[in-house]
Amino acid sequence: MLQLIKLENNNHIFLVNHINEYLNPLYIYIPIFDKTTFKMKDYVYKNTLFGDEVASVSGNILGSKKIIVNKKHIPALKIKNDFKENNISKKRVKKINSKEELIELLNNFNLKDIANIILSKQNIKNFIVSSIDEEIYAINEFIILSNYYNEILDTIEYLLKLFSLDKSLILTKNTNSKSIKNVKSIIGTYPKINISLVPDKYLISRDEFICKYLNISLDETLILKTSEIYKIYKVLLKAKMNTETIITISGDAIEKSLVINTKIGVSLKELLDEFIKFICDDYEVYVNGYLSGIKIENIDEVIITKNTSSIVINKSKKEEESSCINCGACKKICPVNINVKYCYFNKLSHKNCIKCGLCNYVCPARLKLKEIVMSDAK
Ligand code: SF4
Ligand code: SF4
Repeated sequence: MLQLIKLENNNHIFLVNHINEYLNPLYIYIPIFDKTTFKMKDYVYKNTLFGDEVASVSGNILGSKKIIVNKKHIPALKIKNDFKENNISKKRVKKINSKEELIELLNNFNLKDIANIILSKQNIKNFIVSSIDEEIYAINEFIILSNYYNEILDTIEYLLKLFSLDKSLILTKNTNSKSIKNVKSIIGTYPKINISLVPDKYLISRDEFICKYLNISLDETLILKTSEIYKIYKVLLKAKMNTETIITISGDAIEKSLVINTKIGVSLKELLDEFIKFICDDYEVYVNGYLSGIKIENIDEVIITKNTSSIVINKSKKEEESSCINCGACKKICPVNINVKYCYFNKLSHKNCIKCGLCNYVCPARLKLKEIVMSDAK
């Protein structure tokens, strides 16, 4: 049975409600996953696709460098931004009349992930828009709702018509209730859209937990995040390729947390140099979640991809692993009831592991349990 967990808040971290911009970087890096070859000085136009990766600026290729994506080292092209923003692949949006046409459009604009979510739902009866970030130190989804609520509400209304549905529900955490005054003040003019507060518990952002909480069928429920609705808005109304992404940078090793709308492909090091003041020298960096993300050894190798949502920079805890004391906390907290200790000591991965990181979080012996249990997890 799925269970939701209330986590302690870290009092050192204050999340903000303002979006900074980093849209004119000097360089961007494009990961190259196939064998395509490029010559130095080749010119790259903004919006050109390299497989599923997009050139978020235009400019010449300066060289290549090794970067790390999902724990794997891969080559990336280094592009020097010429700030011309040439746009040879600008596409015109035709009128969309059906779910199938929307899916085709999203695929054409390199939003395959969103197209696949919609495609996977054959019979949509419920349409939920979630402004809940999974990461406890991130606020991207909520900040998009509170900053772009007109665009979000208009797009939801448009999608309701397209899917022939008569209502949609926006979910937000009850801890955000005071910050959604602006959304509440306008939502009355959208009679088909309601907003609902949910408890501030870890993992409630995940589709299976949302449906369990609302007591609705996962198969019949389309759940899109506010960031995904905003991307659909940009494609539908502005015919804009997705070359930007919104990320939260937070943690107790930096002076203040920030939310940044940045070009895809910028180096994390350059982004931190530009925006972040460290308050200590000894810190740990996590990409996409302190609990469920990946700890980074060398920030020089990290670029912001379209899938980056948060960077957490916490003071180094220097916690040594010690012996298991058989407390049972890992099994008790696991939301999908895996016998975590058994898997760890028998070096077994478990297909049900959802990589939430709660077992590591509670283990008093500081064992790296998740890393073993999740290894083959999808
Ligand atoms: S990371 Fe996997 S094993 Fe650990 S608590 Fe989460 S689901 Fe369970
Ligand atoms: S939480 Fe850690 S110490 Fe406790 S039983 Fe699990 S592995 Fe052992």
